[in-house]
Amino acid sequence: MPNKPATCPLCGEPRQPQFKPFCSRGCRDRDLLAWFGEGYRVPADQPPDGTADDDRFDEG
Ligand SMILES: [Zn+2]
Repeated sequence: MPNKPATCPLCGEPRQPQFKPFCSRGCRDRDLLAWFGEGYRVPADQPPDGTADDDRFDEG
């Protein structure tokens, strides 16, 4: 792996070891909030196939 500079994934500034992988507490909190936001707003789980139980002709 090339030794590229470790930067904050949010703003691109050099990350700090105490906040890694972020550069500051602000970026770390922002990422945490983003995670919580996405967790609470998960989309409705739809079946990968379009097979609904009201449309099955398998048995019969
Ligand atoms: Zn940052």
